[in-house]
Amino acid sequence: MILFKKTADLDKWLDAQRKKANIIGFVPTMGALHPGHLSLIAAAKKCNDLVVSSIFVNPTQFNNPRDFEKYPITIEKDIEMLEQAGCDILFLPSVHEIYPDGFSTTKNYDLGFVETILDGKFRPGHFQGVCMVVHHLLDIVSPDNLYLGQKDYQQCIIIKKLIRIIGKSTINIQICPTLRETDGLAMSSRNMRLNAKERETAVTIYHSLLFIKNNISKGDVTAIKNKAKEILDNAGFKTDYVEIADATDLTLVNEWDGQQKIVVLVAAFLNEIRLIDNMVLN
Ligand code: AMP
Repeated sequence: MILFKKTADLDKWLDAQRKKANIIGFVPTMGALHPGHLSLIAAAKKCNDLVVSSIFVNPTQFNNPRDFEKYPITIEKDIEMLEQAGCDILFLPSVHEIYPDGFSTTKNYDLGFVETILDGKFRPGHFQGVCMVVHHLLDIVSPDNLYLGQKDYQQCIIIKKLIRIIGKSTINIQICPTLRETDGLAMSSRNMRLNAKERETAVTIYHSLLFIKNNISKGDVTAIKNKAKEILDNAGFKTDYVEIADATDLTLVNEWDGQQKIVVLVAAFLNEIRLIDNMVLN
Protein backbone atom coordinates (compact mmCIF):
# COMPACT_ATOMS: atom_id res chain seq x y z
CA MET A 1 0.00 0.00 0.00
CA ILE A 2 1.26 3.47 -0.85
CA LEU A 3 0.61 6.21 1.69
CA PHE A 4 0.07 9.79 0.51
CA LYS A 5 -0.19 12.76 2.82
CA LYS A 6 -0.11 15.53 0.21
CA THR A 7 -2.92 16.23 -2.24
CA ALA A 8 -0.50 17.23 -5.01
CA ASP A 9 1.42 13.94 -4.76
CA LEU A 10 -1.71 11.80 -4.80
CA ASP A 11 -3.13 13.85 -7.67
CA LYS A 12 -0.03 13.31 -9.79
CA TRP A 13 0.10 9.59 -9.03
CA LEU A 14 -3.60 9.05 -9.78
CA ASP A 15 -3.32 11.03 -13.02
CA ALA A 16 -0.76 8.54 -14.27
CA GLN A 17 -3.05 5.65 -13.29
CA ARG A 18 -6.01 7.18 -15.11
CA LYS A 19 -3.91 7.47 -18.26
CA LYS A 20 -3.43 3.70 -18.03
CA ALA A 21 -7.25 3.42 -17.93
CA ASN A 22 -7.22 1.94 -14.46
CA ILE A 23 -10.65 1.84 -12.81
CA ILE A 24 -10.54 3.49 -9.40
CA GLY A 25 -12.68 2.60 -6.39
CA PHE A 26 -12.73 4.96 -3.42
CA VAL A 27 -13.56 4.27 0.25
CA PRO A 28 -13.52 7.44 2.39
CA THR A 29 -13.35 6.90 6.17
CA MET A 30 -12.60 8.65 9.43
CA GLY A 31 -10.39 5.80 10.60
CA ALA A 32 -10.73 3.73 13.80
CA LEU A 33 -11.39 0.97 11.31
CA HIS A 34 -13.46 -2.14 11.94
CA PRO A 35 -14.73 -5.02 9.74
CA GLY A 36 -17.57 -2.78 8.45
CA HIS A 37 -15.02 -0.49 6.81
CA LEU A 38 -13.09 -3.49 5.49
CA SER A 39 -16.24 -4.87 3.86
CA LEU A 40 -16.26 -1.69 1.73
CA ILE A 41 -12.62 -2.27 0.77
CA ALA A 42 -13.47 -5.89 -0.13
CA ALA A 43 -16.40 -4.75 -2.29
CA ALA A 44 -14.16 -2.18 -4.01
CA LYS A 45 -11.45 -4.75 -4.68
CA LYS A 46 -13.88 -6.93 -6.61
CA CYS A 47 -14.73 -4.30 -9.23
CA ASN A 48 -11.78 -1.90 -9.54
CA ASP A 49 -8.14 -1.99 -10.65
CA LEU A 50 -7.13 0.27 -7.78
CA VAL A 51 -8.64 0.82 -4.37
CA VAL A 52 -8.04 4.17 -2.72
CA SER A 53 -9.05 4.76 0.87
CA SER A 54 -8.77 7.91 2.95
CA ILE A 55 -8.62 8.51 6.67
CA PHE A 56 -9.57 12.00 7.75
CA VAL A 57 -11.44 12.96 10.90
CA ASN A 58 -13.26 15.90 9.38
CA PRO A 59 -13.65 18.73 11.90
CA THR A 60 -16.39 20.51 9.93
CA GLN A 61 -18.87 17.66 10.30
CA PHE A 62 -18.75 17.59 14.10
CA ASN A 63 -21.41 19.85 15.52
CA ASN A 64 -20.31 18.81 19.02
CA PRO A 65 -16.65 19.75 19.77
CA ARG A 66 -16.39 17.11 22.51
CA ASP A 67 -17.45 14.37 20.08
CA PHE A 68 -14.63 15.54 17.77
CA GLU A 69 -12.06 15.60 20.59
CA LYS A 70 -13.07 12.11 21.71
CA TYR A 71 -13.27 10.53 18.25
CA PRO A 72 -11.12 7.36 18.42
CA ILE A 73 -7.82 7.43 16.55
CA THR A 74 -6.02 4.13 15.88
CA ILE A 75 -3.92 5.03 12.88
CA GLU A 76 -1.16 2.38 13.17
CA LYS A 77 -3.71 -0.40 13.47
CA ASP A 78 -5.77 1.11 10.62
CA ILE A 79 -2.76 1.05 8.29
CA GLU A 80 -2.13 -2.60 9.13
CA MET A 81 -5.79 -3.49 8.55
CA LEU A 82 -5.91 -1.69 5.20
CA GLU A 83 -2.72 -3.36 4.08
CA GLN A 84 -4.05 -6.79 5.00
CA ALA A 85 -7.30 -6.04 3.21
CA GLY A 86 -5.37 -5.30 0.01
CA CYS A 87 -6.03 -1.56 -0.19
CA ASP A 88 -3.67 0.00 -2.76
CA ILE A 89 -3.55 3.65 -1.67
CA LEU A 90 -4.16 5.39 1.62
CA PHE A 91 -4.66 9.15 1.62
CA LEU A 92 -3.94 10.51 5.08
CA PRO A 93 -4.13 14.29 4.83
CA SER A 94 -3.69 16.87 7.57
CA VAL A 95 -6.47 19.34 8.34
CA HIS A 96 -4.41 22.05 6.59
CA GLU A 97 -4.17 19.89 3.49
CA ILE A 98 -7.97 19.66 3.19
CA TYR A 99 -8.75 23.16 4.45
CA PRO A 100 -5.72 25.28 3.44
CA ASP A 101 -7.72 28.50 3.87
CA GLY A 102 -9.30 27.45 7.17
CA PHE A 103 -12.98 26.78 7.52
CA SER A 104 -14.08 30.31 6.62
CA THR A 105 -14.43 29.47 2.94
CA THR A 106 -17.35 27.19 3.78
CA LYS A 107 -19.49 26.39 0.77
CA ASN A 108 -23.21 26.14 1.16
CA TYR A 109 -24.74 23.16 -0.59
CA ASP A 110 -28.45 23.24 -1.33
CA LEU A 111 -29.45 19.96 0.25
CA GLY A 112 -33.13 20.81 0.63
CA PHE A 113 -35.43 19.48 3.34
CA VAL A 114 -33.08 16.68 4.44
CA GLU A 115 -31.18 19.32 6.38
CA THR A 116 -34.28 20.06 8.45
CA ILE A 117 -35.14 16.51 9.59
CA LEU A 118 -33.41 13.62 11.38
CA ASP A 119 -29.63 14.20 11.67
CA GLY A 120 -30.05 17.38 9.61
CA LYS A 121 -32.16 18.75 12.44
CA PHE A 122 -30.31 17.24 15.39
CA ARG A 123 -26.78 17.89 14.10
CA PRO A 124 -26.95 21.38 12.57
CA GLY A 125 -24.26 21.89 9.93
CA HIS A 126 -23.23 18.23 9.98
CA PHE A 127 -24.22 17.46 6.40
CA GLN A 128 -22.65 20.69 5.07
CA GLY A 129 -19.40 19.50 6.68
CA VAL A 130 -19.80 16.04 5.14
CA CYS A 131 -20.37 17.63 1.72
CA MET A 132 -17.33 19.90 2.05
CA VAL A 133 -14.95 17.06 2.75
CA VAL A 134 -16.47 14.60 0.28
CA HIS A 135 -16.48 17.28 -2.47
CA HIS A 136 -12.81 17.94 -1.81
CA LEU A 137 -11.90 14.23 -1.75
CA LEU A 138 -13.86 13.51 -4.93
CA ASP A 139 -12.06 16.38 -6.70
CA ILE A 140 -8.74 14.79 -5.77
CA VAL A 141 -9.51 11.10 -6.28
CA SER A 142 -12.04 11.33 -9.16
CA PRO A 143 -13.09 7.73 -8.60
CA ASP A 144 -15.18 5.64 -10.97
CA ASN A 145 -16.88 3.98 -7.99
CA LEU A 146 -17.53 5.40 -4.54
CA TYR A 147 -18.22 2.95 -1.68
CA LEU A 148 -20.48 3.96 1.19
CA GLY A 149 -22.08 2.03 4.05
CA GLN A 150 -25.82 1.73 4.55
CA LYS A 151 -25.03 2.24 8.25
CA ASP A 152 -24.98 5.98 7.44
CA TYR A 153 -28.21 5.92 5.44
CA GLN A 154 -28.84 9.67 5.47
CA GLN A 155 -25.23 10.31 4.44
CA CYS A 156 -25.74 8.04 1.41
CA ILE A 157 -28.77 10.09 0.31
CA ILE A 158 -26.88 13.36 0.91
CA ILE A 159 -23.85 12.22 -1.08
CA LYS A 160 -26.08 11.11 -3.96
CA LYS A 161 -27.46 14.66 -3.92
CA LEU A 162 -23.98 16.16 -3.64
CA ILE A 163 -22.63 14.42 -6.73
CA ARG A 164 -25.52 15.87 -8.74
CA ILE A 165 -24.93 19.36 -7.28
CA ILE A 166 -21.21 19.32 -8.09
CA GLY A 167 -21.69 17.77 -11.54
CA LYS A 168 -20.05 14.43 -10.81
CA SER A 169 -22.99 12.18 -11.58
CA THR A 170 -20.75 9.82 -13.55
CA ILE A 171 -19.42 8.47 -10.24
CA ASN A 172 -21.21 5.22 -9.39
CA ILE A 173 -22.26 5.06 -5.78
CA GLN A 174 -22.16 1.58 -4.33
CA ILE A 175 -23.98 1.18 -1.03
CA CYS A 176 -22.77 -1.75 1.07
CA PRO A 177 -24.86 -3.49 3.77
CA THR A 178 -24.35 -2.70 7.45
CA LEU A 179 -22.01 -5.14 9.17
CA ARG A 180 -23.16 -6.08 12.67
CA GLU A 181 -21.66 -7.66 15.74
CA THR A 182 -22.98 -11.15 16.56
CA ASP A 183 -25.66 -9.72 18.86
CA GLY A 184 -26.86 -7.34 16.12
CA LEU A 185 -25.21 -4.05 17.18
CA ALA A 186 -24.13 -2.16 14.05
CA MET A 187 -20.33 -1.92 13.93
CA SER A 188 -19.18 1.64 14.49
CA SER A 189 -15.97 3.42 15.44
CA ARG A 190 -17.90 5.04 18.29
CA ASN A 191 -18.56 1.58 19.83
CA MET A 192 -14.91 1.67 20.98
CA ARG A 193 -15.93 4.37 23.44
CA LEU A 194 -18.60 2.23 25.14
CA ASN A 195 -17.77 0.68 28.50
CA ALA A 196 -18.82 -2.94 29.17
CA LYS A 197 -22.20 -2.02 30.59
CA GLU A 198 -22.94 0.49 27.80
CA ARG A 199 -21.88 -2.07 25.20
CA GLU A 200 -24.44 -4.52 26.60
CA THR A 201 -27.16 -1.88 26.49
CA ALA A 202 -26.19 -0.56 23.05
CA VAL A 203 -27.77 -3.52 21.24
CA THR A 204 -31.20 -2.21 22.30
CA ILE A 205 -30.98 0.14 19.29
CA TYR A 206 -31.05 -2.93 17.03
CA HIS A 207 -33.88 -4.43 19.09
CA SER A 208 -35.93 -1.23 18.67
CA LEU A 209 -35.52 -1.49 14.88
CA LEU A 210 -36.51 -5.17 14.95
CA PHE A 211 -39.51 -4.29 17.09
CA ILE A 212 -40.77 -1.93 14.38
CA LYS A 213 -39.95 -4.39 11.61
CA ASN A 214 -41.92 -7.17 13.32
CA ASN A 215 -44.90 -5.12 14.45
CA ILE A 216 -45.52 -2.43 11.86
CA SER A 217 -48.79 -2.51 9.98
CA LYS A 218 -50.60 -0.29 7.50
CA GLY A 219 -51.88 3.05 8.79
CA ASP A 220 -50.69 5.60 11.34
CA VAL A 221 -47.15 4.77 12.52
CA THR A 222 -47.04 7.20 15.49
CA ALA A 223 -47.85 4.58 18.13
CA ILE A 224 -45.22 2.10 16.98
CA LYS A 225 -42.54 4.82 16.85
CA ASN A 226 -43.48 5.86 20.41
CA LYS A 227 -43.30 2.25 21.59
CA ALA A 228 -39.82 1.83 20.06
CA LYS A 229 -38.73 5.06 21.78
CA GLU A 230 -40.07 3.69 25.05
CA ILE A 231 -37.90 0.57 24.59
CA LEU A 232 -34.86 2.85 24.22
CA ASP A 233 -35.86 5.11 27.12
CA ASN A 234 -36.33 2.09 29.40
CA ALA A 235 -32.83 0.84 28.52
CA GLY A 236 -31.34 4.22 29.53
CA PHE A 237 -30.96 5.89 26.13
CA LYS A 238 -31.66 9.56 25.48
CA THR A 239 -33.31 9.38 22.09
CA ASP A 240 -32.91 12.06 19.41
CA TYR A 241 -35.39 10.34 17.10
CA VAL A 242 -37.08 7.15 16.03
CA GLU A 243 -38.43 7.91 12.57
CA ILE A 244 -39.87 6.18 9.56
CA ALA A 245 -39.10 7.65 6.15
CA ASP A 246 -39.39 6.94 2.46
CA ALA A 247 -36.36 4.79 1.63
CA THR A 248 -35.60 6.70 -1.58
CA ASP A 249 -35.84 10.36 -0.59
CA LEU A 250 -36.27 10.35 3.22
CA THR A 251 -39.65 12.10 3.22
CA LEU A 252 -41.05 11.31 6.68
CA VAL A 253 -43.89 8.80 6.64
CA ASN A 254 -46.79 9.21 9.09
CA GLU A 255 -49.28 6.89 7.38
CA TRP A 256 -47.85 3.76 5.79
CA ASP A 257 -49.78 2.16 2.93
CA GLY A 258 -48.05 -1.20 3.43
CA GLN A 259 -46.42 -0.95 -0.03
CA GLN A 260 -44.03 1.99 0.09
CA LYS A 261 -40.37 1.05 0.64
CA ILE A 262 -39.49 2.62 3.96
CA VAL A 263 -36.51 2.96 6.26
CA VAL A 264 -36.63 3.06 10.05
CA LEU A 265 -33.96 5.39 11.47
CA VAL A 266 -32.82 5.73 15.06
CA ALA A 267 -30.35 8.09 16.75
CA ALA A 268 -29.87 7.92 20.49
CA PHE A 269 -27.35 8.78 23.17
CA LEU A 270 -25.97 6.30 25.67
CA ASN A 271 -24.49 8.73 28.17
CA GLU A 272 -22.37 10.97 25.92
CA ILE A 273 -22.00 8.54 23.02
CA ARG A 274 -24.39 9.03 20.13
CA LEU A 275 -25.26 5.91 18.16
CA ILE A 276 -27.24 5.63 14.92
CA ASP A 277 -28.73 2.69 13.10
CA ASN A 278 -31.38 1.98 10.48
CA MET A 279 -33.30 -0.82 8.81
CA VAL A 280 -34.94 -0.85 5.38
CA LEU A 281 -38.37 -2.49 5.26
CA ASN A 282 -39.90 -3.71 2.04
P1 AMP B 1 -16.77 6.41 9.00
O1 AMP B 1 -15.33 6.09 9.21
O2 AMP B 1 -17.63 6.14 10.19
O3 AMP B 1 -16.96 7.78 8.40
O4 AMP B 1 -17.28 5.39 7.90
C1 AMP B 1 -16.68 5.27 6.65
C2 AMP B 1 -17.56 4.46 5.75
O5 AMP B 1 -17.75 3.16 6.32
C3 AMP B 1 -18.95 5.08 5.59
O6 AMP B 1 -19.38 4.93 4.25
C4 AMP B 1 -19.79 4.25 6.54
O7 AMP B 1 -21.15 4.20 6.20
C5 AMP B 1 -19.13 2.88 6.40
N1 AMP B 1 -19.44 2.06 7.56
C6 AMP B 1 -19.33 2.42 8.88
N2 AMP B 1 -19.79 1.44 9.68
C7 AMP B 1 -20.18 0.43 8.86
C8 AMP B 1 -20.75 -0.86 9.09
N3 AMP B 1 -21.03 -1.31 10.30
N4 AMP B 1 -21.03 -1.63 8.00
C9 AMP B 1 -20.78 -1.19 6.75
N5 AMP B 1 -20.25 0.03 6.48
C10 AMP B 1 -19.96 0.83 7.51
